[in-house]
Parts: sequence; C-alpha cells; structure tokens
Amino acid sequence: MQNKINKVVIVGGGTAGWISAALLKKILGNTVTIELVESEAIGTVGVGEATIPPIRLLNKVLGLNEAEFIKETKATIKLGIMFENWRVPNEQYFHSFGVAGKNMAFCQFHHYCSRANQLGFATNLWNYDANYLAAMQGKFGHINSQNQSLELPYAYHFDATLYAKYLRKVSQGLGVKRTEGMVDSVSRNVRNGYIEKLRLQSGQEVAGDLFIDCSGFRGLLIQQELATGYEDWSHWLPCDRAVAIPTERFEKTLPYTRSIAHKAGWQWRIPLQHRNGNGLVYSSAHYSEAEAEALLMSNLESKPLAEPNFIRFKTGRRRKQWNKNVVAVGLSSGFLEPLESTSIHLIQSAIVRLTQLFPHNGIDNASVVEYNKQSTLEFEQIRDFLILHYHVNERTDSQFWRDLGDMEIPNSLAHKIALFRDSGTLFREQNDLFLESSWLQVMQGQGITPKDYHPIANNVSEQKLTDMLAHIKQIKHAYVKSLPSHDEFLKSYCNL
Ligand code: FAD
Repeated sequence: MQNKINKVVIVGGGTAGWISAALLKKILGNTVTIELVESEAIGTVGVGEATIPPIRLLNKVLGLNEAEFIKETKATIKLGIMFENWRVPNEQYFHSFGVAGKNMAFCQFHHYCSRANQLGFATNLWNYDANYLAAMQGKFGHINSQNQSLELPYAYHFDATLYAKYLRKVSQGLGVKRTEGMVDSVSRNVRNGYIEKLRLQSGQEVAGDLFIDCSGFRGLLIQQELATGYEDWSHWLPCDRAVAIPTERFEKTLPYTRSIAHKAGWQWRIPLQHRNGNGLVYSSAHYSEAEAEALLMSNLESKPLAEPNFIRFKTGRRRKQWNKNVVAVGLSSGFLEPLESTSIHLIQSAIVRLTQLFPHNGIDNASVVEYNKQSTLEFEQIRDFLILHYHVNERTDSQFWRDLGDMEIPNSLAHKIALFRDSGTLFREQNDLFLESSWLQVMQGQGITPKDYHPIANNVSEQKLTDMLAHIKQIKHAYVKSLPSHDEFLKSYCNL
C-alpha cells in the first residue's frame, strides 16, 4: 500500500487530459487536488470529432449547458453512421443509435420482421427506426413524448480542438490547476518504482501521488517510463495509418457520420457547423502515404482548409492500463480505429471506473487488478465489434477485403456470428458498450441473414403482424415528419 492519494497529476491536455481533469474534479471534489501539465509546443493529435450517445451523460455530470456546448465546440447532432461500400461496393447501410420497431417481451422485433420477410412483405428493419428516418431526411428535434419507441438517441460531432479548450475552461472553473511545460524527466521511488515527480524543461518540478498518463500515442509515463508493453491486434485490424484534412462546410449539415470503404481502408466525413472533417484510415501494406493522400484528396466534396495531417497508429491495447501509480487514459492506453467513434467514450469510461476504484487511502493490488480486468474486457468487446465490419464482407475487388474475409477471428466473435446466423439470436454481453440493436444492424448490413427466426413470432396471425408493422411504421414516419430540419434545430436551439 502506498500513502494516501492527495494529489493527482495529469500529463497531457488533449481530449483525454481535459475530460479526465473535469470529470475527476467534478466527482471527487475537494478530496484531491488536480494539476494538469500540457505542452503547447507538442500539441494534440487534432482529430477525434465523432462521438456516441453516452457523451451526453458525461456532459450532464459535468453540468454543461447543451446549447452552450454545441455553440462553443461548433457541434452538430449525430444520429448514427452510414456505412457505404462495406459489404459490397455501391451499397450502404445505417448503424443507427436508435432501436427499430419497439421493445417486445421475449421476442425481439427483428424476428417479426424476418417472419414478415419470409411471408413476402417487403419489409426492412430501418423503416421502423426513427433515427434512420430522421437522418435520411436531415431532421432533428428534442423528443417531447412519453413513447419510448419514439426516442431519438443521439451524440455529437464537434471540433476536437475547441472541445479540449472548452473543457479546459470548465476544469479550471472547477479548480483544476494547469501548468504549461514540457515534461523532460521523471523521478521514481527507488523502493517500489512509483513515480514521485515530473521535471519540466523549465526546471520546475511537479509532484503527485497518482499520475494519469494522457500524453497520447507516446505513452510518456505508462510506456516510456514504465515499459508496460502493448498487445498488438493489427492481425485483426490491419489499418495502421490515417490522413486527415478539414474542408469547407456544405450548405446543409447532415446529422450523421459517413464511413466510406475503399479498396484498403475507409474514409470518414464528419459534418461540423463551420467545416467538414475528412480522413482516410488505411493499411500501409496496401497504400503508400502518397497514394492515400491522392485517394483522399480525389474524394473530397468541398475545398480543403489546411494541409493534410498524417497519423500513424498500431491497433491494440496497453497490457496494463493501470501500472504502479500510473493510469493510462486516452491514446496512451491503446487504440481502436475510429470506425465506431469509441475512443472518446473509452476516456469517459476509464475515468468513471477510476473514480469507482479510486485509491483514496493508498493503491491496493486488488483495485488495480479489477481496473485492468474491466478495461481489458471493454477493449476486447469493442475490438470484436470492429472486426465484424471487416470480416463479414462480400467484396472481391481487392486482396485487403479477401484476406479480411478469410482471416481467423476471436472465438468470442465467431460464437456471436454463429448464434445470429443460425437463429437470429443476439445477446448483449455483460457491460458491452454496443446493444443488441447495434450488433443487429451491422450483422444485417454486412450481409448475414439468419436461417431462422424465433418461433414466438409465429404466435400472431398474419393479419395482426401486418397491422402491427404498418402501425409502427406510420407512427414513426409521422413523428419524424413533424421534426424541424437539423440546421433549423441548431439555429433556433443555440441561437446561431
Ligand atoms: P493527444 O490529443 O495526442 O494529446 C496528448 C497531450 O499530451 C497533448 O496535450 C500534448 O501536449 C501532451 N504531451 C505529450 N507529451 C508531453 C510532454 N513531454 N510534456 C507535456 N505534455 C505532453 N475518437 C473518437 O471518439 N471519435 C473519433 O471520431 C475519432 N477519430 C479519430 C481519428 C484518428 C485518425 C485518430 C488517430 C484518432 C481518433 N479518435 C477518435 C481518437 C481521439 O482522437 C483520441 O481518443 C482523443 O483525441 C484523445 O487523445 P489524447 O488526449 O489521448 O492524446
């Protein structure tokens, strides 16, 4: 056991650093003091602009005013992701944050859809999903209904640099101390190897009891100092590079992200109020830097606003995310490509986990083991979901896609796919970030059609089934029709 934890030092002032600072201070209050060290000379990774719905909980806990947040970070609403060319070229499907149909006891809605399909009604899951319908019509509004099936779960797209700045203001308002300077060296306790203080280039020293490493891919403390090690997953997720570039905004902002597959990677398009974020995630074994840049530039739909930003990464996770008195959060803790916009969420959930296991009276081994166990499971569950997008494909136009279709996948994922393929059954595993509705949409979108549906779906007559589906469709379509356009919503809600 170490001494009491009175002071937490965060290294890094990117999205991870400032979320960690704000959330820790908000939850732990005056039980600890928090100091964040960042170096403007190094800067942040400068990407990371699409999120998933739990971010709204983070904002709520931090007490942020939503309209102000949207205004300050130039945010837009995100209702889901359009996956284009993923199963085969020139086809698309939507991964919506919503749920198709309605909650049914004992037999999920999609089994009824499967039965309707077998009976020959032309029915498609997404027709019963308000998020999808609103996204396709470029609409959004806050829900004002007791009807759960009309909820529009949403997240945001925002400017990563403005977001870090905004959270910095919030954190400093809560009492977090900010120190500008580059960490040059580290002093450790000779007995237990714990970090005791950081020495900055200026000669200033910053001491602490617990250190949060938010230094980005370099992993200044967790790797460069503690040599924690890395589990490499690039045999399953071989993309290892990205090139990103902002472009001029379009007249209309779409309330969803686009993910467009290419021959050896995929391209994102993220609409913000003042610009679009664009980037290509690709495999360096298949494209050179110059080829990737040319591909991205030839697929931009508006004028570039800056030079391309090249980023290298290795997919995987740090072997221990908490090692001695260092907890790695953000890019220093591991990396899963941004296909499902999960990295910012991983920052949030790491800090929530840390507050639950916070070692106020000193670091004990059991808490560290529990923290690392939960982090590993969380990373693995997201990894499996990402692999699903690549592995279940019918593309024959490049070696990249053929190899991914042929590769061996983790047993955990193979089991999930087999269960769905055989019987249409989906279960949410313990604490899996992705609900059944997410797995369902990606499995179907990538081309898995279950051989069978649940027999309970046969318990309604054909007429009742027809009426039920028509009724749900009618309610959802009517609701979406009543919504304002996404741009009108932003304008009136945020006074833009
Ligand atoms: P960084 O932004 O790199 O910040 C590191 C900080 O450490 C900086 O402030 C730097 O100054 C500081 N630092 C480093 N060394 C020192 C030193 N010696 N002394 C002092 N300070 C130091 N996530 C999503 O959720 N959605 C997305 O759409 C998404 N898209 C992405 C696209 C790409 C191509 C990539 C690579 C990532 C994407 N991510 C996305 C991930 C997201 O960008 C990161 O999770 C997020 O930005 C957090 O980064 P970070 O704060 O850990 O690191």
